[in-house]
Amino acid sequence: RKKVNKITTGSATLDQLLGGGVESMAITEAFGEFRTGKTQLALTLCVTCQLPTSMGGGNGKAIYVDTEATFRPERIRPIAERYGLDPDAALDNIFVARAYTHDHQAHLLAMAAAKMAEDQVCLLIVDSITALFRVDFSGRGELAERQQKLGKMMNCLIKTAEEFNVAVYITNQVVADPGGASMFVADPKKPIGGHVLAHASTTRLSLRKGRGEQRICKIYDSPSLPESECVFSITEQGIAD
Ligand code: ATP
Ligand code: MG
Repeated sequence: RKKVNKITTGSATLDQLLGGGVESMAITEAFGEFRTGKTQLALTLCVTCQLPTSMGGGNGKAIYVDTEATFRPERIRPIAERYGLDPDAALDNIFVARAYTHDHQAHLLAMAAAKMAEDQVCLLIVDSITALFRVDFSGRGELAERQQKLGKMMNCLIKTAEEFNVAVYITNQVVADPGGASMFVADPKKPIGGHVLAHASTTRLSLRKGRGEQRICKIYDSPSLPESECVFSITEQGIAD
């Protein structure tokens, strides 16, 4: 029986909110508006996952499926230095693949699983899980097909996470939710993907902007974690308190 591993986010308060960090054999989804830190958290996890488990890592490599060309190799260096890792070695331990269509994304995820069978991988990132689906199924009549394909991809991700004891971290955008308007929230936003993502994601994190480089993270709709929130910062050295 495999033991669930938790990878540190770089922020002690965020780790605490998550019950230790981003966990293996599960899918952690971060959604929020642009610049809320979804990608910065992904980049930080790519480094911290390489640490020994005694230091909050997963003692393994990372696979990063990049759908929006936002992976920045130069961002890895300061984060690696923060943790005392050799920056070049840290970068070598991150396999980055750029996806161009939702089909290509599915193909890369199948290749990622094959890679896990032969190498010590402990983290799989998909940044973002939904962006290409929005492009490829933009027509009104295409929603059902989009949801069906997205659901299939999420099932593959869960299978991969469990089979290889890997932590899966995915990012997602938000859209306006007119139905969610209340006297407290005038302009509500909801994550893309509807019930398909809601069911497949183990832990959902809603990110929003705070003051300056501060961001607020809230656990969203979790069956096992309390619906609380925390504040973290985005720094040159990655996610921190
Ligand atoms: P999108 O939806 O556009 O992909 P995102 O949620 O992925 O957005 P990020 O790219 O993770 O957003 O976060 C961008 C934020 O990270 C910016 O507000 C910027 O201030 C901060 N940031 C980026 N690089 C650095 C750095 N080197 N030092 C400090 N802060 C940085
Ligand atoms: Mg991003």
